[in-house]
Amino acid sequence: MYKQLIPLLERWFEQAELQGMTIPARYHAGGQAGDAADTELQAVFEAFIARMQACYPFHQPAYAGQMLKPPHPAAWLAYAVAMSVNTNNHALDGGPETSQMEKEVIRDLAGMVGYDPGASLGHLTSGGTVANLEALWVARCLHPDKPVLFSEQAHYTHSRMCSVLGMEGRAVSMDLSSKEGEARFREALQGAGTLVVTLGTTGTGTIEPLDKVLPLCRQAGVRIHVDAAYGGFFTLLKNSGLFNPAPFEALWEADSIVIDPHKHGLQPYGCGCVLFRDASVGRFYKHDSPYTYFSSDELHLGEITLECSRAGAAAAALWFTIQLLGLHAESRFAGTLKNCLLAARSFASELQNSEAFGLLAQPETDIVCYFPLAGDISEISRLSRDIFHDTMQQGQQSLFLSLYKVNAGAFVKQFPAVSCTDPSEQVTILRSVFMKPEHLGFIPEMMRRLRASLQRITAQ
Ligand SMILES: *Cc1c(COP(=O)(O)O)cnc(C)c1O
Repeated sequence: MYKQLIPLLERWFEQAELQGMTIPARYHAGGQAGDAADTELQAVFEAFIARMQACYPFHQPAYAGQMLKPPHPAAWLAYAVAMSVNTNNHALDGGPETSQMEKEVIRDLAGMVGYDPGASLGHLTSGGTVANLEALWVARCLHPDKPVLFSEQAHYTHSRMCSVLGMEGRAVSMDLSSKEGEARFREALQGAGTLVVTLGTTGTGTIEPLDKVLPLCRQAGVRIHVDAAYGGFFTLLKNSGLFNPAPFEALWEADSIVIDPHKHGLQPYGCGCVLFRDASVGRFYKHDSPYTYFSSDELHLGEITLECSRAGAAAAALWFTIQLLGLHAESRFAGTLKNCLLAARSFASELQNSEAFGLLAQPETDIVCYFPLAGDISEISRLSRDIFHDTMQQGQQSLFLSLYKVNAGAFVKQFPAVSCTDPSEQVTILRSVFMKPEHLGFIPEMMRRLRASLQRITAQ
């Protein structure tokens, strides 16, 4: 697929070279034109692609391990073109056109979450970690001495960023299903500055109850930051009937939101995004730089970002992808996401019907955690690890999974037939992330490979 786009790239380079937009031939050979440079280039290239071939086959449905999704070929094309100009979206001086594209995609993303694009503020970042850092930094500007709360399932970046910012970070349970749970939560909110709510946790893809915690936070004067780095784009499917829409319907009420286009937005790495409902937080970014903003009085993105230089190519790639696929419920973009959700549901129901495997929980998004059935937690952990290694080593019949650790006490409460001597231990189970629509058709084969692996291991 990438290969088919090369004529378009050639068309760009022909035109760009005529206009002096890209580097002249032999520039990097240090002026020594001739075959020597080509031979060296080819030799290094051969060594390089030999190394690249040692990567896992991320683009195949058999790769259902970590959160890795191939970028859309259109994103690659736009990235390659923009990167050959190498614009810098820090300032309009360095990235005039790609900065405009960034402003346009930010309007699209703000619209997607229900923010008023005219009254909100946002920009792309190099990833979700920096985007979350910015949101917590703004939270600290507003509530300098108050702690940040997040659940045990929150991405580790929140506690790390609290330490970077010198803020106190505290774990809190958002289980409001009982009166006691709600009372505990209300008490935890007292004196807190910000609550982080994760839509699509990194471990299990769980959607935390934004709609339920919101009114309690408002009463207590606590700010809400939503970490939707993983799950943000699922808001396009909130009316699909595949998951509870309520947390996504409340998204527009959050004070800030992080979404990673390089997770589910079909973009190459580094493309994260942070959005603020109230554009006036832009005042915290104020700085006076004697060397950057000259070409216009219009907003330079560097005036509202913590990072300085940023790849204009990332904005170009996202802009191109949205132009091509759309960003609404009926778009092709949403269609590919839907198949990821369906793949996870199909896999979960296969597991439930199987005599060899158990399901940790019904998937809320496209991540499934599961385990080989066995009598005690150490056996489950051992079999899980063995399957993880064995499935990877089957040549064309391989599978690529990931491992996940769960508190043993909580696990045996849910599965009382499993025994455990020390409930403070952890049990290792299997985890699969279905980020590609092609997983949907692959589920029966995936089950076959899993069963075959378990048989190989238990036959030993
Ligand atoms: C991936 C992820 C992050 C971190 O984002 P990066 O882009 O990897 O820096 C933060 N929060 C959640 C929920 C994530 O899934």
